[in-house]
Amino acid sequence: MSLDTLPVYRGLRVPRVARWSAEQDITPRVYLQGGRLVYRDPDLTRVSTQQGALWRVWSLAPGKGVPLLANLHPARQRRMMVRSLCQVCGLSTATEAAAEGGQLVLTGSGEVAGRGPIEEQERTMNPPLHLACAWESVRRCPHLLEGYAAARVTDARPWGLHGILHAPEGRRTAAGDLAVALVSPAQIAYEDSRLPLVLAGQTILELTGVRPVDLRVEAARAGLDGAEAGR
Ligand SMILES: [Zn+2]
Repeated sequence: MSLDTLPVYRGLRVPRVARWSAEQDITPRVYLQGGRLVYRDPDLTRVSTQQGALWRVWSLAPGKGVPLLANLHPARQRRMMVRSLCQVCGLSTATEAAAEGGQLVLTGSGEVAGRGPIEEQERTMNPPLHLACAWESVRRCPHLLEGYAAARVTDARPWGLHGILHAPEGRRTAAGDLAVALVSPAQIAYEDSRLPLVLAGQTILELTGVRPVDLRVEAARAGLDGAEAGR
C-alpha cells in the first residue's frame, strides 16, 4: 500500500475517506415523484441514485482546505464500503483480509468513551482498514487507541443506508411535490419499503463473524514501527 500518495496536511497524511473543508454539500432541493425522492434535474437524479436511494451531492476536492477527520465524504465512504477499500489508503483490503481471517474494522472513534468490544451483528459506517494503515492512524493520536474498538470480521454484509427519511406525501409547490423531512438521522435497511424516501449520506454494513483484536498486539506481531512503545 502506498501511504506516500495520500493527501498531506501539516506534515500528516490524511485518510482518503476524510472530508476536506473545500468539499461542500451542494445537494439541491428534493422532490417526490412516483413514491421516491428525486432532484429536478433528471440526469443528477440518475447519477445520484445508488443502492436504491437518492444520495446527497457533495463536491469533490480532496486535499483542498483543512481535513475534517471526523467527517466522511459520502461518495468516498460508499465506494470504500461497497468495494472493501481501506479508508486510509484507498486500496483493496481483500488480500490482507484473506490472510488474516477477516477484514479489520475499527469503531467507536473516540466519542464513545470506554466502549466495549465490537459485537456480533454490530452495524458500522466505518470502511475497513489495513493493519498498517490503522496503526499509522492511531499512532498519530495515541489517545484514540483507548477510544477505539478493533475486530477482524469474516463477513461485512451490506445492511442499509444512513440519511434523512422523508414523508411519503410531499408539499405541493409550483415546481412539484417538495419532499418533507421526517426523521434525521435515520438508518433504513435495504429491504425496508421506505428506502426510496431516504436522502442517503452513508452506507451501513452489518458485521458478523466478529473476532475482537487488540490493535497494539496485532501491530507488534506484524513488526510495525512503534508497536512496542508504551507497553
Ligand atoms: Zn490501507
